[in-house]
Amino acid sequence: PDFSIKGEIVFKNVSFKYKNGDYVLQNFNLKVKKGEIIALVGETGSGKSTIVNLVSRFYEPTNGVIYIDGMDYRKIPLKKLRSSLGYVLQTPHLFSGTISENIRYGKLYATMHEIIVAAKLVNAHDFIINLENEYDTDVGEGGSKLSTGQRQLISLARAVIADPKIFILDEATSSVDAYTEHLIQDAIMKVLNGRTSFVIAHRLSTIRKADRILVIQNGKIIEDGSHNQL
Ligand code: ATP
Ligand code: MG
Repeated sequence: PDFSIKGEIVFKNVSFKYKNGDYVLQNFNLKVKKGEIIALVGETGSGKSTIVNLVSRFYEPTNGVIYIDGMDYRKIPLKKLRSSLGYVLQTPHLFSGTISENIRYGKLYATMHEIIVAAKLVNAHDFIINLENEYDTDVGEGGSKLSTGQRQLISLARAVIADPKIFILDEATSSVDAYTEHLIQDAIMKVLNGRTSFVIAHRLSTIRKADRILVIQNGKIIEDGSHNQL
């Protein structure tokens, strides 16, 4: 069968509970079109991360089905699914190694040229070439030699290199300086474009960019519409 993923995602009567917990989602229904950008907003504990954890199949529904391009996603080989999915998590994970190794992590055989193109797209190139060894600079344990904002830009470059059909972004809340904030915002817009995206959004700029904003409360969608509609 052809498992090339286009990126339509449907939650059909999905219920979910973590081990030893109560149900977080009950009969949750959602249809996301290919290329649609969804912003998830809502109080802490409302279920936003749980929803994206299910999309990425870190967890599977307790009941109900998630379909990707009309197919029960449990039938899609996990490797295929994972390679079609990109994430940038709240505290982006960098490993000790160079800048280029960290960006290349998105695609094992990326050339230096591809790495630089990705870094330029997400506004990371300028700070990188000012580092002591440019793209060969060691980022330190967990990226400790870089600022939080720089780590976020590197993880966005990694996502660009991977070129996923489905993109999950858990927006960082950590504050960065105004200039870096502007670079990150601009980079996020570029990475979301053209991909089915789920963004756990804190920035108003990202919420505005979304095609749909879902307000989540107690595992339910209580509002669903564009920024103008809501
Ligand atoms: P936040 O804005 O704080 O990130 P959230 O909307 O992402 O919150 P979730 O993390 O999805 O919320 O949590 C939804 C519910 O599931 C909460 O009651 C939470 O305590 C519970 N929960 C989340 N992760 C786990 C887990 N790994 N094991 C057990 N319960 C969990
Ligand atoms: Mg969360």
